[in-house]
Amino acid sequence: MVFTSHLHWDHIGDPAPFTSADIVLGADAKSVLATNVYPANTQGQILQFPADSKVTFIDFVSTDSPSQIVSPFPNFDRALDFFGDGTLYLVDAPGHFEGHIAALVRISPGTFVFLGGDTCHNRQCYTPGTRLTSARIHHDVEKARKTIEKLKAMNDTMDEVVVVLAHETEVLEEGMPLFPGDINDWAVQRAAKRMHMRTQA
Ligand SMILES: [Zn+2]
Repeated sequence: MVFTSHLHWDHIGDPAPFTSADIVLGADAKSVLATNVYPANTQGQILQFPADSKVTFIDFVSTDSPSQIVSPFPNFDRALDFFGDGTLYLVDAPGHFEGHIAALVRISPGTFVFLGGDTCHNRQCYTPGTRLTSARIHHDVEKARKTIEKLKAMNDTMDEVVVVLAHETEVLEEGMPLFPGDINDWAVQRAAKRMHMRTQA
């Protein structure tokens, strides 16, 4: 199963090795997939998914199990408890690209990692201070600004959530392991530090 935050080339790369994967995308990516895929569109910027792969679009409304829809969550408008067991929440995070989604992943009973994709592109956008959001890098900058505000609010209030944006280089300087390592221990320690600092403040 491959969860894809959005269809920019640097987030999908070459899908060829995923020959029979279930690929999960935000629903608004559907129109992009219909028109912008190479080689059907010779100018297309997305490489075709393998013929045996299956694409599922998440619209945060229609599901076989309505109890899996959580809204709001935590302060985002819409989310889906994907497996129905609280381990993985897909979060509607519109603005950057059609159908852009994020993921809140439980890595211990009380700790989560928020995989923010391209909600924004560096830590300064969601931590205290002011960083302007550029219209050049977002499909719908007004929606992107609203989503970033939600990310900011979550980061300000939920120390048990460790945010990692796709392009957040600071986490590398702070020792976040890269694939095929896993980030669970790193993130649990980071969340514990955040919670400790809050109690000391
Ligand atoms: Zn992008």
